[in-house]
Amino acid sequence: MSIRLRLTLLYSAILALTLIGLSAVLYLTVSRVTFGALEDTLVDETQRLVGSKQFRLDQIDYHTKRFAAPETYIQTINLDGNVIDRTTNLGDFVLPISGDGLRACQGGQPSTEVVSTQDGSRLLVYSKPVRDQGEVAGVVQVARSLADYDQSLATLRSILITGTVVVTITAFGVGWVLAGAALRPIHRIIETAHTIGAERNFDRRVDYTGPPDEIGRLARTFNAMLTELRAAYRQAEQSLQAQHRLVADASHELRTPLTTIRGNLGLLQHEPPIRDEDRDAVVADMVGETDRLIRLVNDLLLLARSEAGRPLRSERVPLKPLIEDVCRQAKLLGAERTIECDNVLDVAIVGDRDALKQVLLILLDNALKYTPAGGTITIGTAVAGAQIAISVRDTGPGISPETLPHIFERFYRSDTSRTGTGAGLGLAIAKELVEAQRGEIAVDSDSGHGSVFTVKLPHAAAR
Ligand code: ADP
Repeated sequence: MSIRLRLTLLYSAILALTLIGLSAVLYLTVSRVTFGALEDTLVDETQRLVGSKQFRLDQIDYHTKRFAAPETYIQTINLDGNVIDRTTNLGDFVLPISGDGLRACQGGQPSTEVVSTQDGSRLLVYSKPVRDQGEVAGVVQVARSLADYDQSLATLRSILITGTVVVTITAFGVGWVLAGAALRPIHRIIETAHTIGAERNFDRRVDYTGPPDEIGRLARTFNAMLTELRAAYRQAEQSLQAQHRLVADASHELRTPLTTIRGNLGLLQHEPPIRDEDRDAVVADMVGETDRLIRLVNDLLLLARSEAGRPLRSERVPLKPLIEDVCRQAKLLGAERTIECDNVLDVAIVGDRDALKQVLLILLDNALKYTPAGGTITIGTAVAGAQIAISVRDTGPGISPETLPHIFERFYRSDTSRTGTGAGLGLAIAKELVEAQRGEIAVDSDSGHGSVFTVKLPHAAAR
């Protein structure tokens, strides 16, 4: 059963029950009050009749015309229940009295009874004992027709029943329409969700223009969730594409050294065997290519790890000792270049120590690779707002303006460095690691005048 039908049925049922309850109370109260009033009138009239001086049991005085009105019937009986006298409007009908009623009268107590006549109408009969010198001498019975009373109650009953039915049916209809209007946005949400599921179109939104009530909030929340979902879906799509690109690029890069090694192995199997000096060259070539493969696989592993989002620490890292450490390592490798690390501020950043060290080693490795003997490599630090900028400057050949926008891409190598040992992954790894620490990496270079790589990370003191 739909919520719409359930809601409508529920409040129609509540309304119907309330109306039935109220009608019952009203009907009972009206019937009781009217009956009581009738009874009181009868008692008063009997009292007045018996109290009049002319009253006699054996002759009901007709001159008291009010009692002889067509709807008032009077009869007197003796203590055995036999009729003594009665008004003519009774015709052949004898007002009955029950055994209990007669006994009550014999004991001096009045009684009230409702009796049915031959034609099916009802009469209210009040029987009152009449005393003569202190002794109960007979009973006077005064009756009135209950036809008007029964008629009024029947009318009231039909008004209440018809009213309850009509009001309940109207309330059901109005409730059905209102519940439909209130639930319409929910239907739209269901339809939108259905369409999104079928079309995978996260650009759709629920069109809701109503008040900011619960349904409005549901529509807003649903739309906000769709925005989040779209972003997540796009991100997932992008990272899937990136993964595909990486696999394609990596396979391409791995194939070159493997093809060379395969070719060289073919030469070694050659019959008749190749000359010894050629054999040495082939083996040296294969060792070189194998080293290249190992480096490439290591880089790929590092990249995959940083991309998989190895949770990087977010800790205070003092820069001076870290940079001194990296410098010492660089000096061992680049003996013929001057490496300057003296201009380092005694500050700390917020990030991951190992990841930052890795980034600086990549930048220094490149600087050493591209700076000819006699050149200078300088590591410096500066405060840049809420960040610390760490720069690695070299006096190498610089990077051409066409190359500059691409150097952080994976497997990108400028034409001039294609023959080198790098696979074009170093700067891509550095970028991933820096961004994972909520930092930025940038390059500034003048062809022929060296390059400056700048890494910016949050300043620990500025937090
Ligand atoms: P590789 O392993 O080839 O060095 P990187 O990602 O580290 O790959 O660098 C990408 C390209 O950026 C290099 O091929 C080179 O052309 C250029 N490059 C990087 N660092 C420097 C530098 N210090 N001086 C000049 N060119 C550089």
